[in-house]
Amino acid sequence: MNNLLAPLQSLTKGNWFKLICGASFQHLPTVRSLTIAYTLAGADCIDVSADPAVIAAVQEALQVAKSLTSDAQERGFNYKGNLPFLMVSLNDGEDPHFRKAEFDQTQCPQTCPRPCEKICPAQAIIFNRTKDNFSGVESQKCYGCGRCLPICPYDIIYTKSYISTPTAIAPLVISTGVDALEIHTKVGRLAEFQQLWQVISPWAAQLKLLAISCPDGEGLIEYLQSIYNLISPQSQQIIWQTDGRPMSGDIGDGTTLATVKLGQKVLAANLPGYVQLAGGTNRYTVAKLKAMGLLNSADQAGTNRHYIAGVAYGSYARVLISPIIEQLETKEVNPNNLKANIHLEEEPELLWQAVELAHSLVSQIKSQQER
Ligand code: SF4
Ligand code: SF4
Repeated sequence: MNNLLAPLQSLTKGNWFKLICGASFQHLPTVRSLTIAYTLAGADCIDVSADPAVIAAVQEALQVAKSLTSDAQERGFNYKGNLPFLMVSLNDGEDPHFRKAEFDQTQCPQTCPRPCEKICPAQAIIFNRTKDNFSGVESQKCYGCGRCLPICPYDIIYTKSYISTPTAIAPLVISTGVDALEIHTKVGRLAEFQQLWQVISPWAAQLKLLAISCPDGEGLIEYLQSIYNLISPQSQQIIWQTDGRPMSGDIGDGTTLATVKLGQKVLAANLPGYVQLAGGTNRYTVAKLKAMGLLNSADQAGTNRHYIAGVAYGSYARVLISPIIEQLETKEVNPNNLKANIHLEEEPELLWQAVELAHSLVSQIKSQQER
């Protein structure tokens, strides 16, 4: 195990932590800050949109985090300077992870109390922004959760879906040093998956990891088995990501149950590779997994027992850090500030508060670490 890269070791140990920045989340300053905070807190993987600008922002942030290794250690964090895997998400068909909300704000009645603004977990809905008077959905921040759609009393919010273009992404895998790919699919889309795989497979051997993300559906296990038969000639490690209740982890405690149950179902199918939860994960996920005996606890290590290899956190992880991001943004719009963008590492107090918050989540799965 010692020859494995640190993130792969985490998978084998069963304490893998993935941060999901969002397959359609493209707000570069936020992606940068999240990457720094969660890397210093010990994350194994940063999963981002297949957008060259986002990939570049994450790569820069990873180097910033690495340069802060000794500062982190001085503050008692266990970060050893390892770089988490950089994972990029693609989809083989229409998927809520790959959509953006839109509306024409000129259609909003003056009297509307703007419930859309309050419900958006990404603060993507803005009215009369100070610097440019913008009103509407800030596309880069919207990650397609859909919560604003039913709440609009005038039904004027809609979404636009898009499918990533794998032919454009494949060369990126080579040229930018992306470590891992995640393919979002659904039961019944084998032909579409195959089409996408044909484009990716020439480059696949250069990846360290391949993740297949799929929600539950009738015939799920047979579908995943067919996918495995398609991709198995490749040598990289495989993660089966069980997308329980997509993009909902910050809504409430109970959202985690769907993904825990789905993880249990996929685990029982004994597919080659690792099983990792996502979709509805939050601060209760690890406790639930432990209670159900689904983690590789120290007393069960070495017994060849099947266990959940890790957990990916999306909206819950982002919302956890959002007070810090908001404070950073407030500093940016302060008229005394002459810089357009303030980087998180330039505000040490905020930086280490963010790392502490991120660590409170990462440490749940890495409980055997001291800090
Ligand atoms: S509520 Fe969700 S879908 Fe609507 S704007 Fe915000 S992030 Fe986008
Ligand atoms: S809820 Fe609908 S009508 Fe009201 S401000 Fe939001 S988008 Fe406009």
